[in-house]
Amino acid sequence: MATKPANKPKAAPPAAPAASEPTCPRICFERIIPDELDPERPARQALREYMVSSQKGKLNANEVANAARMAVIKTKKWPAGTILRCLFLDGSTTMKKKVRAYAHQWEKHANIKLKFVTKAPAEIRISFYADAGSWSAVGRDALNRSYFPLHQPTMNYGWLRDNTSDDEYSRVVLHEFGHALGCIHEHQTPTFNRKWDTKAVMKYFQGPPNYWTEDSIKYNVLQKYSPTGIAATAFDPKSIMLYAFDGALFADGKGPTNSNTKFSADDIKMIGTMYPK
Ligand SMILES: [Zn+2]
Repeated sequence: MATKPANKPKAAPPAAPAASEPTCPRICFERIIPDELDPERPARQALREYMVSSQKGKLNANEVANAARMAVIKTKKWPAGTILRCLFLDGSTTMKKKVRAYAHQWEKHANIKLKFVTKAPAEIRISFYADAGSWSAVGRDALNRSYFPLHQPTMNYGWLRDNTSDDEYSRVVLHEFGHALGCIHEHQTPTFNRKWDTKAVMKYFQGPPNYWTEDSIKYNVLQKYSPTGIAATAFDPKSIMLYAFDGALFADGKGPTNSNTKFSADDIKMIGTMYPK
């Protein structure tokens, strides 16, 4: 489950990609902390085992996967009513204003308050320049100082700038703040049976912002999203927490997996359950 971007840029980033390369897949990889750094791993495992055994082994594979997912959410979410302090570590006035506006949309549907502060301390520390990717700590993982040191970001927006479209701000900010509240990716889809263009996938993820090795790409993308590696759970194709893979990464010509920029009805229901008013 650990999907932290494994490798940072090792050298100066290469020149801008040629026009023929896939330009879009600006997707987010969850910064779920590695198991060995997660003190709650045993509790989560016990919870999962309890959920399974309490059904006397009658759960099918899908239900087990769903139980695991819910267990992650349960242990990583903040207590309802929490006031989360958010601090920008860098960024222009425009960039900060836009992030703030979209982030606040979560408050309409969740019993949580985002308080933007101008100096430390803050639970959520936001950068635009930590690296070229977009990512966030998942829920209370943000408090794990060995993984997210106190003066370093817990959230990054590597490609949002003054001239980025509002749709892109909406898509990325709602998604990353979803992680910050403890939501994880909507990726366990029974319908994900797209045919990868393996060469395009390798080429894309070996470049910026990921700079992954072939093994990382196999683990994080090709295996994880292969039809056999995916458990069927209630899948919400409209979720803001769904990965968006660009059409250029597939050999089937069916276009991108999605371009959701708003909350789905199920997102609203889900966050309301996590943080009841
Ligand atoms: Zn994400």
